[in-house]
Amino acid sequence: MNITGIWQFISNNADAIGVIIAISGIIGGIIGFFTKVIIEHVKKKKSSDAKIITDQQHTIEEQKNQILTLTGELDKYCLVQKSTVGDVWIQKKTNTIICPICWSNSQKPIPVFDSGDGYYTCSKCNHTGIYSYNNVNAAQKNTERFIDALYEQDNNYLHNDGLF
Ligand SMILES: [Zn+2]
Repeated sequence: MNITGIWQFISNNADAIGVIIAISGIIGGIIGFFTKVIIEHVKKKKSSDAKIITDQQHTIEEQKNQILTLTGELDKYCLVQKSTVGDVWIQKKTNTIICPICWSNSQKPIPVFDSGDGYYTCSKCNHTGIYSYNNVNAAQKNTERFIDALYEQDNNYLHNDGLF
């Protein structure tokens, strides 16, 4: 079939070819329409996916911060232990007796010392508490013994003087 032959064929079948071209146009339009719908859907999904990812990143950031806070809280209690011999805490690393109030409030290890009567007074917050239950008891017993001895002395003195 040469060019003339092809032209002859088109001329003879012009109506049918016109219909085919029209149908092709309609199909093309339909395909174009669906392609557009699908592309828009994909774009929307991408932007909603991006929003979900952003939300998840925010959640992860918040959880990271919560973990940091909780680790800090945990450290606060892991680094010290309550003394069994007084109302004080012991800093584990240095084995130092520290003020429980200062540690609890600001994690500052402020060393405290027995004032001689079993009590301590913190040099930073001025809190007074029991450094050693035993020393408090011993100091009280000493005081009682001292008072008893004074009574005894008084009694002896008064008796020896012949007043009673
Ligand atoms: Zn203190």
